[in-house]
Amino acid sequence: MKVTLEHLTKKFAGRGRKAKEVVAVNDFTFEIPDGKLVGLLGPSGCGKSTTLFMICGLESPTEGKIFFGEEDVTEIPPENRGVGIVFQNYALYPHLTVRQNITFPLENLKGKDKLTKQEMNERALEAAKLVQIDELLDRKPSELSGGQQQRVAIARAMVKTPRVLLLDEPLSNLDARLRLQTREEIRRIQRETKITTVFVTHDQEEAMSISDLIVVMKEGVVQQIGKPQDVYDDPINLFVAKFLGTPQINMFDGRVEGGKLYIGSDAVLDVNGVSDREVEVGVRPEGFILREDGAFGCDLVRVEVMGRDISVVSANKASQNPTIRSIIDAENSVDEDGDKVVRFDLKPSKVLLFDRSTGARVRFE
Ligand code: ADP
Ligand code: MG
Repeated sequence: MKVTLEHLTKKFAGRGRKAKEVVAVNDFTFEIPDGKLVGLLGPSGCGKSTTLFMICGLESPTEGKIFFGEEDVTEIPPENRGVGIVFQNYALYPHLTVRQNITFPLENLKGKDKLTKQEMNERALEAAKLVQIDELLDRKPSELSGGQQQRVAIARAMVKTPRVLLLDEPLSNLDARLRLQTREEIRRIQRETKITTVFVTHDQEEAMSISDLIVVMKEGVVQQIGKPQDVYDDPINLFVAKFLGTPQINMFDGRVEGGKLYIGSDAVLDVNGVSDREVEVGVRPEGFILREDGAFGCDLVRVEVMGRDISVVSANKASQNPTIRSIIDAENSVDEDGDKVVRFDLKPSKVLLFDRSTGARVRFE
């Protein structure tokens, strides 16, 4: 099921007398392709949940429209939209068993959709198998781990075979290992069922790893939409560049003069097609090549061995952060006892320039 958002906007009245109106979502237009998993990504308060709630019908938009396929669902109440929702806190009924929790959405089906007890239990078993909790159907939520509870919540969202699956930070309450495991599980289920899915998270790594497409939001405004790798490689502005990637992109004050990019007094890269100007320079950690006669000199702070790679931590006056993190192939070695300068060449595709005042990307050849 393709989902279309058309100029979707949500304004909340400010609280208190002088409080300003909040534009939680500002003119969001996007067509979520059928069968894909879209990650809605951005810092806390940027409008992710509000967007999700409008798609499911728990919030109505101030302006704009929502279509499921060709059907305008903007005015349709949530229970009639055919959506499955999973929240951060699993919100299970504590006095019901896992089976009863999963069949709950089926209990009030009416007319020709009405199911017998046995049909409901079969559907519950099917959904439980999908998330691999079919052994736990007779337990109460209090007898389950956090990860298992979240699987029950997912099974409950899936039991009516929704047209659209909506997940609002579903992994936030899980510990690191479970988070990883459950996220792969969600990906598998989504691939198997091909249900169009919107996955909300503030965790860029989570969004990047699970999504076919990511939507990066800031203060209610969509910044960029694309495949995770494309957005990482080719961010439209400084905000997106900084939001994606661990370790974070290294930022420097720089300037372009005569087609060369300078950081401090080092001419670090040829940048054709950019007129002379001050810029902010971002260099991804994997954009550094260790070389004795490299163009960019930094002060060595320390070397961290990470197995496959080594992380060279260094410093430079023009760096906006206290330290620069570069990830280098472990075949290289750095003499920590020698002189305290490391030199790098920079990989052009990993160097991103931004306008000093607007943060907009400045492209070069
Ligand atoms: P996110 O899920 O990205 O953290 P939200 O969509 O929850 O962000 O919130 C976006 C903005 O809208 C925030 O500034 C938040 O305070 C505001 N907001 C959300 N819900 C309401 C509400 N019911 N009333 C007033 N303001 C709200
Ligand atoms: Mg939220």
